[in-house]
Amino acid sequence: MPLFMVEQKITITFPDGAEREYIKGTTALDIAKSISEGLAKKVLAAEINGQVWDATSPVDNSSSLKLLTWEDNNGKNTFWHSSAHLMAEAIEHIFPGVKFWVGPPVDNGFYYDVDLGDRSISEEDMRKVEVKMAELAKQNNSYIRKEISKPEAVQYFAEKGDEYKLDLLQGLYDGEITFYTQGQFTDLCRGPHIPHTGYIKAVKLTNIAGAYWKGDEKNKQLTRIYGVSFPSQKQLDEYLIMLEEAKKRDHRKLGKELGIFTMDDDVGQGLILWLPNGTVIIEELEKLAKETESEGGYKRVVTPHIAKESMYLTSGHLPYYADSMYPPMEMEGEKYYLRAMNCPHHHKIYAALPKSYRDLPYRIAEYGTVYRYEQSGELFGLMRVRCLHMNDAHIYCTREQFADEFRAVNEMYLKYFNIFGVDKYVMRLSLHSPEKLGVKYVNEPELWKDTEEMVRKVLIESNIPYVEVQDEAAFYGPKIDVQIYSVIGREFTLATNQVDFSQGRSFKLEYTTEDNKTETPLIIHRAPLGTHERFIGFLLEHYAGKLPLWLAPVQVKILPISDKFVDYAKTVLDQLKKLDIRAEIDDRSEKIGKKIRDTELMRVPYMLVIGEKEVSQNQVAVRRQGKGDMGAKGVNEFVKEIAAEIKERRGE
Ligand SMILES: [Zn+2]
Ligand SMILES: [Zn+2]
Repeated sequence: MPLFMVEQKITITFPDGAEREYIKGTTALDIAKSISEGLAKKVLAAEINGQVWDATSPVDNSSSLKLLTWEDNNGKNTFWHSSAHLMAEAIEHIFPGVKFWVGPPVDNGFYYDVDLGDRSISEEDMRKVEVKMAELAKQNNSYIRKEISKPEAVQYFAEKGDEYKLDLLQGLYDGEITFYTQGQFTDLCRGPHIPHTGYIKAVKLTNIAGAYWKGDEKNKQLTRIYGVSFPSQKQLDEYLIMLEEAKKRDHRKLGKELGIFTMDDDVGQGLILWLPNGTVIIEELEKLAKETESEGGYKRVVTPHIAKESMYLTSGHLPYYADSMYPPMEMEGEKYYLRAMNCPHHHKIYAALPKSYRDLPYRIAEYGTVYRYEQSGELFGLMRVRCLHMNDAHIYCTREQFADEFRAVNEMYLKYFNIFGVDKYVMRLSLHSPEKLGVKYVNEPELWKDTEEMVRKVLIESNIPYVEVQDEAAFYGPKIDVQIYSVIGREFTLATNQVDFSQGRSFKLEYTTEDNKTETPLIIHRAPLGTHERFIGFLLEHYAGKLPLWLAPVQVKILPISDKFVDYAKTVLDQLKKLDIRAEIDDRSEKIGKKIRDTELMRVPYMLVIGEKEVSQNQVAVRRQGKGDMGAKGVNEFVKEIAAEIKERRGE
């Protein structure tokens, strides 16, 4: 035996590649403290070798480490999951004997499914729970992890009388069961959790809903209690203001008021009927996409909405994606599926004629209609639907061409963000995990390394804000999810941009190289404008329904003060129509004040008021939505000006 133990050192590698030595058993929180106290206060959890752990758990081996804060999705999720535990503790104080099912983090906060017995929870109870949570949070109670044997775990919940947790335990075995305790509350939980409750500075319970146990309507209905929490009161206040604003801008409300879209029970849930005003927006978006893609060297194609089973077996959508597809139709002894993706059809177009290196990059685009099965409970306005129109395209290129092609795709995203006034966006670069090659990811270590490096380089060079996530790539290559934020700060995941070095092989896509060899092209899948459904939902919120002139279904409304001026109004209308400007006359015998108000409600960008003076001077009195009276203008001058505004797709 040595007289004294030499402290063992481990090497920690940080995301920027920097390495530092620490004593074995150091926690991520200690490491944060060694960098700065300020940072340590913000650390919620840690990603160690790509897996999320408690920031307080000891690190025993040399590892890569990423400290997770509120800015990281995994940090935020850990915070919200810990808040769910805190809420459970508070609920138990107020409803002794309550039983708990599960309490995960969700997109905007967290929930817990609880069985209150024959009690119910009132608005007043919710406020009581919030107060109790604040009180418990201030106690700075640590979230303590404990590994526990199955018999002990079963005994604990049997004594507590919580049959739901006992049910969860049934599927677990010794060695994989952990408890987390904070204050008076212990939960069966895999974790991870934040260091202590004191991080939770502001809480709001947002909603209550019924939820069948295990999602099965034959089971008992539990109470799902939703909440949201933040590391500061200021963030909660801002969030609540944003929610209020989002309610006013709700795309379902605006979609109805402005005649954009509707749904009908006979057609089916999640199947959008685009009304004439919505169709105008769709056509303008497609026009923009077609122009942009044509400049970018894309060619357009048109493909059917269905295909035979065999194609989806080749693509791997069957059986892996079957849950998201509609059941097949049988015809002439064959099974046909409604397509959930456009890619396979496009691959077949690539394969239709032999290709040589001179044909690459080969870029084909289509506003493709796809059908996805979403559970009826998941459907939501334009955001979750069953029929989607996707701004799709596929680029087939050589490895040498890849970086330039990928850069051009990113530039296209940025061009669109600029047009739509999207100032805040983040790209999430999802990478593979080397340990899972051949299982979760195509076994091509070199290609993964190369393409990931190329993608990263393009993002850095283009100065695009991005975050990297390990182990979330697509099966066939790295993936970039693009998240954009509306003017009120709500996040929308719009589109993905994916690199694919596998489908080309599955579909036996080939090209002849300069020295007469046969190679498989790389494929880029991209859809910068996402789907019409989600993008128009986003635009309605983003602009609060006041679409920029070029997108507005009606661009100009002509308002004669009385019937006497309708003829003159018609001559103005003709001039506008000649330049394809979408204009209408309001010839109702209403007072001009009412005509103006109604037009404003429809968010029409320009109103032209016409009375005696305008007729005699061949003018129009211009009113701009949101700006009011802009004075009188000659008809020609006005027409010329707005034609330019439309052509340039100017925002406000
Ligand atoms: Zn938990
Ligand atoms: Zn695709």
